[in-house]
Amino acid sequence: MMYDIAIIGAGIAGASLARKASEYANTLLIEAREENNLLVATNIFSEHNKPFLTEVDYSNKSIFPLLHEKMNYMGSTDNGEVNSSEFGAPFGHIIHTEELVKKLYQTAVDKGATTKFGERVSKIENRGDYVEIINNKGESYKSKLVAIATGSSGLELQRSVGFEVPDCYQGIFTHLRGDQDVINSQLPYHYIFHINPKISTNGPFYIEKGFERVPIGFMGNSNESPASLVDKLNRILHNYQRIQPFIKNLKVDEKPVILNISKHPIKQFSRDRMVVLGEAAGLVTSFFYEGMLCGVCSADLISKICMSLLENDSSFNRNDLQRYDRELHRILIDNYNQNGTGSEYLFYNAGSHVKVLWDTYVKLINTDKQLRKEIWEAYRMPDIENYDLKGTKRAGKNLFSMLPALTKIALSGKFLRAAFM
Ligand SMILES: Cc1cc2nc3c(=O)[nH]c(=O)nc-3n(C[C@H](O)[C@H](O)[C@H](O)COP(=O)(O)OP(=O)(O)OC[C@H]3O[C@@H](n4cnc5c(N)ncnc54)[C@H](O)[C@@H]3O)c2cc1C
Repeated sequence: MMYDIAIIGAGIAGASLARKASEYANTLLIEAREENNLLVATNIFSEHNKPFLTEVDYSNKSIFPLLHEKMNYMGSTDNGEVNSSEFGAPFGHIIHTEELVKKLYQTAVDKGATTKFGERVSKIENRGDYVEIINNKGESYKSKLVAIATGSSGLELQRSVGFEVPDCYQGIFTHLRGDQDVINSQLPYHYIFHINPKISTNGPFYIEKGFERVPIGFMGNSNESPASLVDKLNRILHNYQRIQPFIKNLKVDEKPVILNISKHPIKQFSRDRMVVLGEAAGLVTSFFYEGMLCGVCSADLISKICMSLLENDSSFNRNDLQRYDRELHRILIDNYNQNGTGSEYLFYNAGSHVKVLWDTYVKLINTDKQLRKEIWEAYRMPDIENYDLKGTKRAGKNLFSMLPALTKIALSGKFLRAAFM
């Protein structure tokens, strides 16, 4: 049997590509984990993802249990609130992503796709007229095109066929559980995004509101072992006074999960008969660690391109597939994602100034309605390729002007550089 497209990895990127491709192509989806043991960490689904995933019923409460309405960019003492009601519509949805992934591949199967769970792909061989995909049991499949959507847990596979691998960091999260009334009464925010260099110099600490669950976690520093991440998370859960009002009365009922997360896009996304998408391609926004947008956007692009190449009986060579690389740059990497690149440079690399920088930003959020509006628009805009980076630069200028004099002197070069990134 010759498949048109074989997708490796049933995360958000692979599952949404399988759903789309099953409309027009003979599709195979292979996943290393067992079907009842998929692991998806995402909890926030921004409105701007929707144009890339039109195949979903957004009123389905088992997938999208809550609206995402209220954010807290939390400082060391103040809460930097952005309430979407100020601008008339929510930021998007709270998502139970494992339900979305399930729905996507099940619908793909209804439309004729084949799924294989519990099979880890160990080798991909380009045989010229097709690609051979070999799993850990020694079985093999043939396909015209292979899409590598293996996230940050399968990087050795893409390396073995000549793709670069992205930078990789460790994150840790757990779920706190409780009755929804209890969660609603003590956690007024759907998303708390907190920068605290004592927790991480590499990324945020976050608390999210789900339905009867509250995901909570942080990105680790590069040198931290899994054991030290677990120990730190436990200390935060028990001793960090700043978050206790939001999490009291909730139960930690699971072992924490430690996951790699990759970021910073690789340079080349296609080779002859092969493409790479989602987190495997380093497509996660810097600073915010938003992987959902990148997963659904890259899946949508490759699906459209694959459909037109199949119609034209393409041999899926690198020349034909380069359109995918160009579109990814045009729509995602060279515009919207630059927002995160500048913020990452400013906030995660400012040494002893991080705390004062973040606390000043939190104050700016509370006083600058234009900034709150820009945050809201960034969440909602349906055409991220037209994202206007002027707002980010304006916010950078205002932030700089509010800094204490000594911090200003120390960071002037950094702000100047960020302005030209
Ligand atoms: C703690 C945490 C919280 C996050 N929160 C958010 C959020 O709220 N919003 C947001 O937008 N993003 C968030 N992200 C980022 C986002 O979750 C990821 O970027 C996104 O889920 C990646 O999707 P993916 O499909 O590319 O990869 P994955 O979800 O990693 O899926 C890859 C799949 O490939 C399979 N696989 C790997 N190797 C093989 C192989 N050789 N053969 C077969 N199968 C293989 C894996 O088992 C896995 O199921 C978060 C990330 C973390 C770590």
